Amino acid sequence: MVAAVVDITADTNTCNSSLRENGVRHGWTPFFFTNSLSLIACGNILPDFNVFKIVMANLRYFSFIFLLLTVWACDKDETSPSFTYQVAMQYRPHVQTFIMEAEKRGIQIDTTNLIMEGVETLPDSICGLCNHTSSQSDRQKVVQFNTSQHCAESLIELEALVLHELGHCFLGRLHDDTLLPNGDPKSIMKTGGRKMYAPCTYQFGNEPCDNTFKRAYYLDELFDPATPVPDWAQ
Ligand SMILES: [Zn+2]
Repeated sequence: MVAAVVDITADTNTCNSSLRENGVRHGWTPFFFTNSLSLIACGNILPDFNVFKIVMANLRYFSFIFLLLTVWACDKDETSPSFTYQVAMQYRPHVQTFIMEAEKRGIQIDTTNLIMEGVETLPDSICGLCNHTSSQSDRQKVVQFNTSQHCAESLIELEALVLHELGHCFLGRLHDDTLLPNGDPKSIMKTGGRKMYAPCTYQFGNEPCDNTFKRAYYLDELFDPATPVPDWAQ
């Protein structure tokens, strides 16, 4: 116990004298680094008056380092965040459709910040997710799709699903469950269900089955919610 106390005292004294000697003898580089290491190793930075003297004696060097750190910090703030583009192959044609249909209507879409992937981890009740509903491109957009077959039984349903999620992620659109006069959904942004312009799968009786002619309206409405009610929905 006593020996331990003596050892600690001896270390502290050695440190202090080492700092004093280094402070007098050396140029700035070895002086600064040697003393910094010594101070840290000694663990007595705050109470030692030598620290104050060292800082004052090397004020210009500390100022220079501070200036460098400030410039570096400013540079970091002004640099735009780096985004990832990573869209799984099966979704790419539909993302292209979204971009082209937007362009036709004078809307430029930049998808360089888009990650789109199919996952098996979403609950059955969720077919797609967009991580951030906004038309701003200031952050990484991530769209996940449930790969379960019930979510998209045809390519046209998959298209509607992709357009719906991109409507959240790149147009900032929320869900809209309004109905048209004939009872059809007003928008591709309706909650759940992607069959509003699906082709005929099974014909039952004389009911109209092929709804692909409705696609043009739903695309118009996606990019402009004020699109008038189409004739077929009166
Ligand atoms: Zn949605």
